[in-house]
Amino acid sequence: MDTVHQAQQQFKEGTVSAQELVQESFKTMDGWDPHIHAFLQRFEEEAVSKAQHIDAARQKKETLGLLAGLPIAVKDNIVTKTGRTTAGSKILESYTAPFNATVINRLEDAGAIIIGKTNLDEFAMGSSTEYSAFGPTKNPWNLSHVPGGSSGGSAAAVAAGIVPAALGTDTGGSIRQPASFCGVVGVKPTYGRVSRFGVISYGSSLDQVGPFARTVQDAALLLSVMAGQDEYDATTSNHAVGDYVAACQQASVKGLTIGVPKEFFEEGMSIDLAAVVRKAIAWFEEQGAQVKEVSLPLTSAGVAVYYLIAKAEASVNLARYDALRFGPMDLRSDDLLARYMEARGSGFGPEVKRAIIMGTYALSAGYYDAWYKQASKVRTLIRREYEEVFKSVDIMLGPVSPEGPFTFGSKTADPLQMYLADSLTVPISVAGLPALSLPCGSVNGLPVGLQVIAPHFKEAAMFAAAHTYEQAHDWWQQVPVLPQ
Ligand code: GLN
Repeated sequence: MDTVHQAQQQFKEGTVSAQELVQESFKTMDGWDPHIHAFLQRFEEEAVSKAQHIDAARQKKETLGLLAGLPIAVKDNIVTKTGRTTAGSKILESYTAPFNATVINRLEDAGAIIIGKTNLDEFAMGSSTEYSAFGPTKNPWNLSHVPGGSSGGSAAAVAAGIVPAALGTDTGGSIRQPASFCGVVGVKPTYGRVSRFGVISYGSSLDQVGPFARTVQDAALLLSVMAGQDEYDATTSNHAVGDYVAACQQASVKGLTIGVPKEFFEEGMSIDLAAVVRKAIAWFEEQGAQVKEVSLPLTSAGVAVYYLIAKAEASVNLARYDALRFGPMDLRSDDLLARYMEARGSGFGPEVKRAIIMGTYALSAGYYDAWYKQASKVRTLIRREYEEVFKSVDIMLGPVSPEGPFTFGSKTADPLQMYLADSLTVPISVAGLPALSLPCGSVNGLPVGLQVIAPHFKEAAMFAAAHTYEQAHDWWQQVPVLPQ
């Protein structure tokens, strides 16, 4: 599948119809998905019928939306009226939502066509998709390696060329890390930039929806359609949404001041991966940017602070899966407590149970001050630390993850090892900042991402810098080969 831009171009010129675009997606899915398992559901009938409508509207010369005919995939923790929304969990295996998430309405109003729902770690908790109740997704570049997570299905679907763009959610890195592992662009917007209405909550003060695409400009286009205030989500900001595509086109690196946090290259950082990232940063300097080392000493506290806050919020958000409001109703037990235990005991997987135990503990009387409150205080300090550095730099650059895609099973036995895979994405989430991952090379045939971090609501600056780098390199044109 082409990029969003190429698909749009061909559709506009009339060389391709919406039906052909959608059919090409399903054909690519037929080839790839038996190998990678990126999809939990496919919406063939609905997608083809929508494409027919769009083609008919074009015939009649009706005005079409910005994304008319574009096939997209959606992470299965974003509710859609079509099909089910499982959040990768057994407890929601048969859940059908009575409404669309705001992001879905906005994309569909612009003419995008959802071709299916993608795999994820259960309730978006994880960094490899191994915690999906429906089996893991595989990395299209090497099937014995994880695609990252939790939005592994969406990242793999774009990398394999099944769709030109997809939606993910990022609480602590779940868009950026799989984008890095799969060699595509993945964007986590500023907290409050995109509506969370209809997004199954993990950590409500951290969750954001964002796009995956092959190019920066494609991701910028999708974000500009999705972003903005929503009357159904009081945490959305009324900050004007920028013209992110124009920002890409006007971009220049000259005169840019770039900060490189030295702590992002310490502890546990792979030497090979660091070399690839440093080379990408050096390119910015060669092009006339001023690159300087900066320090974010609280980076090492990121994982502890993030996991305390995310799991505490998760334990509260997951209370609704009680077999009364949500969850299976066909239970054997009839006593209330026994029903809770049956539904939650068999419906939740290991990482979700860990979240409930850890989160409930951190919020309980007697422990709240020592854990949750303390973590919240450090959260404020982390945020201030970033704000301070951003007084003297326009953007920051660094790695997305301390190591590349790992092999299946190598981290599931030790949850802490899995948490450390997020050590360079979670501090940014805790600070509520926008950041993206874009391909900048590879190690042993597996992609490496460069993380671009910007001040609050400065997505335009982030896209501009990323686009300039991308256009001067050909990483985005490299695609994995379909296994035989
Ligand atoms: N791996 C992290 C976690 O489990 C991040 C997940 C996410 O961003 N949704 O919390």
